Amino acid sequence: MAKDTGPQCKQCRSAGMKLFLKGERCYNDDKCGYKRRTYPPGHVGRFSRRERNASEYSVQLREKQRARRMYGISEKQFHKCYEKASQKVGITGEMLFQYLERRLDNVVYRMGFGASRRMARQLVRHRHITVNGRIVDIPSFTVKSGDVIEVKEKSKKQQAIRDAANSASTRARIPAWIETNPIELKGTVLELPEGDKLDIPVQDHLIVEFYSR
Ligand code: SF4
Repeated sequence: MAKDTGPQCKQCRSAGMKLFLKGERCYNDDKCGYKRRTYPPGHVGRFSRRERNASEYSVQLREKQRARRMYGISEKQFHKCYEKASQKVGITGEMLFQYLERRLDNVVYRMGFGASRRMARQLVRHRHITVNGRIVDIPSFTVKSGDVIEVKEKSKKQQAIRDAANSASTRARIPAWIETNPIELKGTVLELPEGDKLDIPVQDHLIVEFYSR
């Protein structure tokens, strides 16, 4: 299955929750498409009985789609993360989200250098980001504890990056496993995210059940 390229607010409405796909706009309830229309998209969306009639399978599928859309990756990439997680020692659901959180595009977003994961991915692809002083242009690159992520010196003047870092720092959305400096546009992965530090708004056990069928 390819990546979702349709209207992003529709993806939130279809997921039944805010996925924060559009950056700044997502923090303004007056502009947020999901807040304005909390029912699913489509002409029967408003009258849908989806919640009441949902089968076990559809609940699991929906949870998986929520997580996949939130990280903005394809089914193939998501499944690959699940396979890796299921081979690790530990709770598979937690391992899955640890892999997803450790993706470089996600870390750049979490550090606030990109207003959304999509913008963060573009920064990585366009070679604006360094890891331990070396340019890395692979969004799925997995960071490890102690890695230093920084916006390349030449790119630090870019207004879009500065604006994103400023608004992220005022919103205090930086997770505890990351340390970031919005002035220097530089951050460190303090430790790998696990347990309570993995603050993910989806139920990982449903995703594991979905793939274990
Ligand atoms: Fe989702 Fe709201 Fe952001 Fe649109 S504005 S992508 S509905 S969170």
